[in-house]
Amino acid sequence: MHRALYPGTFDPITLGHLNILEKAVRLFDEVILAGADYTGKNTSIQLEERLRLCVESTRHIPNLKVLSFSGLVVELAEKLECNTMLRGLRAVSDFEYELSLALTNKKIKPQIETVFLVPSLKYMYLSSSMVRQMADLGAHLEDFVPEPVLQYFHDTKRAR
Ligand code: ADP
Repeated sequence: MHRALYPGTFDPITLGHLNILEKAVRLFDEVILAGADYTGKNTSIQLEERLRLCVESTRHIPNLKVLSFSGLVVELAEKLECNTMLRGLRAVSDFEYELSLALTNKKIKPQIETVFLVPSLKYMYLSSSMVRQMADLGAHLEDFVPEPVLQYFHDTKRAR
């Protein structure tokens, strides 16, 4: 079975992430979305909530599992018997970071290959941080995030 691991912060999951996942399940027998506890980034949404939003937003995608992890992602890949690490590659800005990550992971576990998928053009410049900023400023987010994330921002705004 050819299984791919798609790790990330998903703070929150966006239509860009979903676009990558929908492409990935056509290429692999199984895809595992792994939400990171620690990524070196200051996350704004709690891990449990990020995970719930991932689960609810991906119900329509077959052969996909969602889980969380802490520690080294390559260790997780090995434990789950994933020989492929999946990452999304947007415009030039991602390249430097993603390349260094892929090469570092390769150094630790040479048997794990990183595969990059390019999103559809309309998601090329979409990021979770941009979504969070737009949410703070009260922008309409329908074109950028799935329904459960829309609901999340709606609920958290009302609770403020
Ligand atoms: P991380 O903190 O690991 O970068 P993210 O949740 O920001 O976690 O992103 C996870 C992966 O999804 C990364 O490879 C990132 O480049 C990719 N990604 C994020 N947004 C998009 C998008 N709009 N289109 C394609 N790939 C994306």
